[in-house]
Amino acid sequence: MLHELPVLSQPPLPDKEGAPVPASTVPDDFGLTHDATRSADAPLTDPFGRRHTYLRISLVERCNLRCRYCMPADGLAWTPSPQLLTDAELVRLARLFVGAGVTKIRLTGGEPLLRTTIEALADEIGALPGLHTLAITTNGLLLPKKIDGLQRAGVSLLNISLDTLRADRFAEITRRPGLPLVHRAIDEAIRRGYAPVKINCVVMRGVNDDELVDFVRWTEERPVAVRFIEFMPFDGNRWADDRLVPFGEMLQRIRAAVPLERLTEGPHETSRTFRVPGYRGTVGFIASMTEPFCEGCNRLRITADGNLKVCLFGNAEVSLRDAMRDGASDAALRALIGEAVGRKHARHAGMDALSAMENRPMITIGG
Ligand code: SF4
Repeated sequence: MLHELPVLSQPPLPDKEGAPVPASTVPDDFGLTHDATRSADAPLTDPFGRRHTYLRISLVERCNLRCRYCMPADGLAWTPSPQLLTDAELVRLARLFVGAGVTKIRLTGGEPLLRTTIEALADEIGALPGLHTLAITTNGLLLPKKIDGLQRAGVSLLNISLDTLRADRFAEITRRPGLPLVHRAIDEAIRRGYAPVKINCVVMRGVNDDELVDFVRWTEERPVAVRFIEFMPFDGNRWADDRLVPFGEMLQRIRAAVPLERLTEGPHETSRTFRVPGYRGTVGFIASMTEPFCEGCNRLRITADGNLKVCLFGNAEVSLRDAMRDGASDAALRALIGEAVGRKHARHAGMDALSAMENRPMITIGG
């Protein structure tokens, strides 16, 4: 399997002198030291006191698009389906995490709407007591067909990926046609009252960065929240720092064309949000490379093959699938989860180190 990664082998982040240091004794980047002797009944709180209330669950590895920043150019050896989580395993894990304090779950992929049981899964997960928000990130192609069932299941937040407003460029970036379908999905989501509909746009220099202002103008009449995402390094996406357009530069280039007012956002919000005065929609920037937001991180991820990933850029993973299939009790799973969260680092290793580190292709993480 292409992405058989070492489990729990990631070394602690080096201190300024490069020597590895355990999380519990050194002040983190925020000058805070934390006691690693965390309480067993708070498995989702890490050594830095961050409570993880947001779980992203990847339902499938497959996708009906081939976006260049997500899908390795040379393709992927898909995980055989018997090794992917079953519906029952997914619901069991969702129940366990919600029971431990998760209040928001996002269903991702690959393309989550390709999972044929997604409406039934959303129904079960959406009904979990204690869950406040059920969200989905999709490329939109299948959304018009599925939105009715998803909305009835309680999906209250929709993120739709769209990296260009040009049909030719859409085919260039995604290696597939489909722009009109995505626009149809966005319009249908707006018509059904999703507000804002969040639009995820990965900005790559020399690919779509000349559309920044076009996207901002596109928010004038639409209740959408366009989020410009800094290009991130994942296995096989040929990331290079000269292909990254930093947040600061994006903001400057947009402000040269239109006025932007800064809006406030919540403590765990990854996006810095702005609005053109008088426009219905907003624009935001997710600057995980140049201005990381790790201090407020509340996110955990489960991959489609059942690994817990405590950090998007961390390559240490623990298999909850194997533990479940070996007969682990809920208490044993909680302990396993607590251990993994207990090894979470204060922040990611920095973009230069990340681009040299082994990680998964984005398509098998779910962003
Ligand atoms: S890089 Fe890791 S620690 Fe930082 S915000 Fe993302 S998931 Fe959290």
